[in-house]
Amino acid sequence: MTVWDPRLTGGRAPDGPVRLRNFVGGGFVDGSRTFTRRSPVTGETIFEVVEADEGTVDDAVSAARAALRGPWGRTGERERAELLRRIADELERRFDDLVTAEVADTGKSLAQARTLDVARGAANFRAFADVVATAPTESFTTVTPTGGRALNYALRKPVGVVAVIVPWNLPLLLLTWKVAPALACGNAVVVKPSEETPASATLLAEVMAAAGVPDGVFNLVHGFGPGSAGEHLTRHPGVDAITFTGESATGSAIMRAAADGVKAVSFELGGKNAGLVFADADLDAAVAGSVRSSFTNGGQVCLCTERIYVQRPVYEEFTARLAERAGALAYGWPTDPGTATMPLISHTHRDKVLGCYDLARAEGAEVITGGAAPTFGDARDGGAYVQPTVLTGLGPDARTNQEEVFGPVVHVAPFDDEQEAFALANGTPYGLAATVWTRDVGRAHRAGAALDAGIVWVNTWFLRDLRTPFGGMRASGVGREGGVHSLDFYSELTNVCVDLT
Ligand code: NAD
Repeated sequence: MTVWDPRLTGGRAPDGPVRLRNFVGGGFVDGSRTFTRRSPVTGETIFEVVEADEGTVDDAVSAARAALRGPWGRTGERERAELLRRIADELERRFDDLVTAEVADTGKSLAQARTLDVARGAANFRAFADVVATAPTESFTTVTPTGGRALNYALRKPVGVVAVIVPWNLPLLLLTWKVAPALACGNAVVVKPSEETPASATLLAEVMAAAGVPDGVFNLVHGFGPGSAGEHLTRHPGVDAITFTGESATGSAIMRAAADGVKAVSFELGGKNAGLVFADADLDAAVAGSVRSSFTNGGQVCLCTERIYVQRPVYEEFTARLAERAGALAYGWPTDPGTATMPLISHTHRDKVLGCYDLARAEGAEVITGGAAPTFGDARDGGAYVQPTVLTGLGPDARTNQEEVFGPVVHVAPFDDEQEAFALANGTPYGLAATVWTRDVGRAHRAGAALDAGIVWVNTWFLRDLRTPFGGMRASGVGREGGVHSLDFYSELTNVCVDLT
């Protein structure tokens, strides 16, 4: 498959949408039902995607089950680590194609797709190759009732067929974050990318085949959630575990579907993340860091900051500087160097975000910058752009400060003391991430202990070490992935107890 979208450059007319197919049992399979995908940059139709029906999902699960019964089911950790490294090599060989696919899918800048999304795709495979090759196993020597000795040791085994369901915001990064540890542990996967971002996942299937992943170990089904490939997969009796990243409400629906088969679930869900800026902070760093944390990827990162609380002595200055920087973020085509904004993923999502801007106004917010859709006078007027937006003036319980928008918008409000700041940060149903800007080392550690979030960043944002636990509290998730925590989800432990007497 070659994905090249000349419209991204405003260039020549398209030859027609690229057809993307499902990947089952080691080969691409077609189907009669299709859906189309529009470019978020220009609104033109760029992909025609074959939607997996119930039969195709069933074939994918059967292919995965068959692979587990074959030689793949008998591979050892080192062999699988080698395979993961070959996948990373192949991914790097197809780097430019994957960047192009990721940009066509999302409208993000080429520069970001290169340095973040696709680079992390390869890094995910290398990281989990290392984790699985070096993970220790537990053992205990136990005294028996007769005074003898018994040896207990734990064996790691694959869970089986793992359904991997992912969203559209960082498509390749989030997909490989789950596929890499799943394969490292010897599972077979059926992945369902978001209906909004089918291209880079389809290319990943080519990467898998070229890297020598055995037939049936990696399967890909395209489609939607309810009544489509997503629901068929989560309700399929042949699926042993479900790993999902997406909205909290979807997590609830999947949990209900998983209950019937008592399937293991790992959920990385939504957030309403707070940033706390203390008066002792390096204000330059806090402003620059908050621009990144609020507007990276068009604000469409689960870890993005949508609420900033600023200690009163620096509130006015911080807010003015943040708004100035937000208003100056460079619009450009994805291919232009220096482009700092991107369209939202779809016109539907743009309408939702513009609705959130209207809601904020109706709630009494003051719009310091942004608050509308930009106009370009070129083909991007058909795209899904909104302006980066800074709001003030609302209380912590306003819907704007409670509900995830998932767009380039942040609300800024003042606070007086540390306890108040921690309480404000914790004051939503979510618990994914928090960012703290301070020069006080003691406060940094107090924040880590006090904030109900899966990750607390101090004087930085989105700095990730793939060995660390990652996940959310409360409505932001179930379980942790990353490093050995991923191994815990993607494998089952059998404890073997041998009486040595
Ligand atoms: P979404 O929940 O709408 O969709 C995610 C995936 O689930 C898609 O592939 C979709 O087709 C599928 N799906 C939807 N309903 C389903 C159902 N009933 N059964 C099975 N599958 C179903 O989320 P989205 O809009 O694609 O992504 C944005 C959301 O993802 C935001 O809430 C964001 O915070 C969250 N997110 C969380 C993390 C994290 O690590 N915590 C990372 C990225 C995104």
